[in-house]
Amino acid sequence: MKKKETKLPETEEGTVLFNVPFPEDLSQLKKMSPIIIKWPYHIDYIHSYGQDSPFFAGLANKKLVGTKCPKCGYKYATPKYHCMYCGSECDWFELPLEGKIHTWTTCHFGGEEFLKETPFNLILVEFEGVDSLLLARLIGLSQDEIRIGMKVKAKFRRNSQFKPTDVYFVPAE
Ligand SMILES: [Zn+2]
Repeated sequence: MKKKETKLPETEEGTVLFNVPFPEDLSQLKKMSPIIIKWPYHIDYIHSYGQDSPFFAGLANKKLVGTKCPKCGYKYATPKYHCMYCGSECDWFELPLEGKIHTWTTCHFGGEEFLKETPFNLILVEFEGVDSLLLARLIGLSQDEIRIGMKVKAKFRRNSQFKPTDVYFVPAE
């Protein structure tokens, strides 16, 4: 008869600890500092851009594309596949590569991906004849040099990562 397993196999990972302080009086455990561990984390994340794919194909080709509603004529700088106002299916159109700063903010905090780049400036770009705005990074101006209404032009990263950050803006003049 085969003996039942009564022990999990040991792993290569982890740490064998010696001399870790542990109080005899367990009420002291409430005063213990939190244990903080560092652990590498990696996943391959497969994400579909679905109907937004043409926007990212545009970025890879150094073009900005928005959508336009064929029914009510509303033009979106941040593409929407269906019109927010009338629900119609929109068509793609090419946006100009120059616009102006509608508003801006300086980020001193950010998500994990951008934390190491703080502080950075974000702008909402206004394109002539387009009804909605595009959020992007502004490079080349310090916080006190930025003015609403300034002309900016789009620049694209040479190596596309198919991310919204493939495009950023710099002063046009
Ligand atoms: Zn519409």
